[in-house]
Amino acid sequence: MNDTVAKTPRLVSCPTCGKPVPWTPESRWRPFCSERCKLIDLGAWADERYRLASAGERPSESGDESQ
Ligand SMILES: [Zn+2]
Repeated sequence: MNDTVAKTPRLVSCPTCGKPVPWTPESRWRPFCSERCKLIDLGAWADERYRLASAGERPSESGDESQ
């Protein structure tokens, strides 16, 4: 029970595109403005983690006939 519900919702900036996003339950993808931006951000994370994980060893997807 929170009666201090904002009549003017707090705005946050979408981390991906910087668009103002109202911080409300309706903003399903907050702090992102859309699912697309969320996926883009997650993709960036995954990409970064992938790079970090594979920094020490080279993935050999092609040219490896060790089967
Ligand atoms: Zn966005």
